[in-house]
Order: sequence, then C-alpha cells, then structure tokens
Amino acid sequence: MGAVEVRDGFTALYGAEPEGVWSAPGRVNLIGEHTDYNDGFVMPFALPHTATAAVSRREDGVVRLHSADLDGGVVELRPDDLVPQADKEWTAYPAGVVWALREAGHPVTGADIHLSSTVPVGAGLSSSAAVEVVVALALNDLYELGLQRWQLARLCQRAENVYVGAPTGIMDQTASACCEDGHALFLDTRDLGQKQIPFDLAAEGMRLLVVDTRVKHAHNEGEYGKRRAGCEKGAALLGVDALRDIAYDDLDAALARLEDEEVRRLVRHVVTEDARVERVVALLESGDTRAIGPVLTAGHASLRDDFRISCPELDLVVDTALASGALGARMTGGGFGGSAIVLAEATDVDTITKAVEEAFAAASFTAPRVFEAVPSPGARRIS
Ligand code: ADP
Ligand code: MG
Repeated sequence: MGAVEVRDGFTALYGAEPEGVWSAPGRVNLIGEHTDYNDGFVMPFALPHTATAAVSRREDGVVRLHSADLDGGVVELRPDDLVPQADKEWTAYPAGVVWALREAGHPVTGADIHLSSTVPVGAGLSSSAAVEVVVALALNDLYELGLQRWQLARLCQRAENVYVGAPTGIMDQTASACCEDGHALFLDTRDLGQKQIPFDLAAEGMRLLVVDTRVKHAHNEGEYGKRRAGCEKGAALLGVDALRDIAYDDLDAALARLEDEEVRRLVRHVVTEDARVERVVALLESGDTRAIGPVLTAGHASLRDDFRISCPELDLVVDTALASGALGARMTGGGFGGSAIVLAEATDVDTITKAVEEAFAAASFTAPRVFEAVPSPGARRIS
C-alpha cells in the first residue's frame, strides 16, 4: 500500500486528514550475524519495502491504532495505562514506542495512527522494526522531540525488548532509522558508531537477491536465547566484557582456553564474523566488490556449522545459488528460516532464480519468494 492509500485510509477511518505520513524500511543484513549482542559489527542496508504510517497528535490521553494489513478494527489505548509485556498482539509494537518515549520523559499525549507495510512478516527482514521506527519518527516530528535517529533506534529497541518482550539487538531499528539510499551501514554496536558505505551493485553489473524461504522463524526464540547465553558464557570464561573484545589474531589462543565444545563454536563464529564484516568494508571501500562473495559464503558456513542456526531450506538456497554461478550466498537474519541473500552477476540472476525454484519444488518445499534488494533510503517523512 502506498502513501496515498495510507493517507486516504486514515481519513476514512478517523474522519480527518492526518498531520503527516512517514515511512520506515525493513532491512537485510549483508554481513555480521549474531554479532550485535556481542558488542560487534553489523552491516545492514534498507530495503525498498517499507511500513507507512499516517499519524496525528491527540491531546486527550488516547492512542488509537489501526493496521490496514490485519483484520480487527481500531484498537484504543491509554498511554497512562501501558504495562510492559501485557499486550500479545501487533499493537504492542507501536504502543511500546509510545511507552518508551513517555518513559524517557517525552510528552507524548496521544495519537491516531493508521499504518500499512510491504515488509514481509517473519521473513527475517525486520517488519517489526519498520513498524516501530515509522511510529517513533512520526511522533518525534509531530511532538518536536528533537531526538536524533540513533536515539529513536535505541528507544525502539527498548520498546521491543522491554514492552513487547523480545530480546533483540540494536541492528534492526538502527538500520531502519539510519540507512541511506545506495549505501550499506557499517555499525559498531558497542558505541553505535556508524559509517555509510557506498553499495551500488547495479552500477557494477551485479544484483543482490533476497530469497524468502517462507519458513517462519518465529518459533526460534528459545534457540536464540541459548545462543545468546552461550556467547555470554564464553565472554565470561575468557574474562572479557563481550566477545567483540577477542581479537581475530587471538582467536586460537582463546579457543584453547575453552573446554566446552559448544561454547568454542559460538565464540569462533562471533570472532570470525566480526572479521568478515571488517573485510567486507575494506573490499567495498577499495572497489573490489566482487570479492565480497566468498566472504558472504564463508559467513554462511560459519552460521551453519559453528553457530548451527541454518535449516535445510536456507542451505538449499545457498548451495543451489553457488552451483548456478552466484558470487556468494548466505542465510541472513536470526536463522532457522527466514531469508537468504545471493550476490550474483546481473546476467546470472534468471538462471539462479530458476534453479532455486526448481530445487525447492524437487525437495517438496513451499515455493520461495525471490526479489531483488536495492539499497534504499531509511525512515523519512513523505508528506
Ligand atoms: P520480523 O522478522 O518480520 O521483524 P517479528 O516477529 O520480529 O518478525 O515481527 C513481526 C510482528 O510485527 C508481526 O507479528 C506483527 O505483530 C508486527 N507487524 C509487522 N508488520 C505489521 C503490519 N503491517 N501490521 C501490523 N503489525 C505488523
Ligand atoms: Mg523483528
């Protein structure tokens, strides 16, 4: 649904024009997986798929929420009454943003919100962050809160962690809030230092495909928690604040000090993955874009063999794409489903897409959804 439909939908629903319309994108992570809760590096870029919200202020202590994408009508809440982890519906995401803003002392007295999103839900493309960030940016503008993008991302993360109750890192919200058109975002999740890295594949005759396996990753929260706890255990055993503090050159020495094979695998993934992010940044900055392919593929092997969060569908995408001429491929996002990315010469895209679709049919998997991911703008006001 486009901005005009969302604006018109708001007017039909609430009987008045919205004060404005905003959008915020989903994201795909180029490299740097499961590093964000280890104080490490990530490198997402924004998708052309966005959540779009029409919003007006209210002064009577009421928030009204509506999603054009779901059945169920307008939900009315009172900001004074919001309690973390009580709401198990979609409304927890936008309400959580209102809660987080107010908890941080910002005078948000109410709002009418109507939204719609083209970000696929549960595909590892961060539809939840798109919803949070679009609401945060709208309220920041309307209430003239003066918060910077990274601050909005922090508040959205707090909304998701504390109010919704989902233990996620800072990457998704920062990507949605801070990415720029034609760039990937290098983010140091320890100090939130950022660097925009030019990433214009089309100009160099390449494409990046997203293959949504249609396997919902929603059931993986227990596994995510286990990996996270294992990483924290590794850091504690090694006497560092976070695994980010283990230098790549010291990895072998660190591993030699760990007895638990499971913890060793987790540590090895995180430390080598941080090194891969730095490698990709260096290659892109030196203009050697094709050379990032094998780095992406090495990242997949690490997630599959060391972190052990891949699944047959994701492995099939990666193996089939590589066998059909892809420059590199890897699962992206939390794992156990969701999406993979494939870097390819533009001329090979059709062959690869067909091969992946045929491989899925032959394996009796649900047909995947394949689309091209063009690095797109971050959150913005549309009207
Ligand atoms: P993802 O990987 O897509 O972020 P999550 O489980 O983190 O998956 O978030 C998905 C949730 O975000 C949905 O279950 C829903 O509650 C909310 N959401 C996403 N898009 C929409 C939408 N268009 N309308 C309402 N809620 C949405
Ligand atoms: Mg999410």
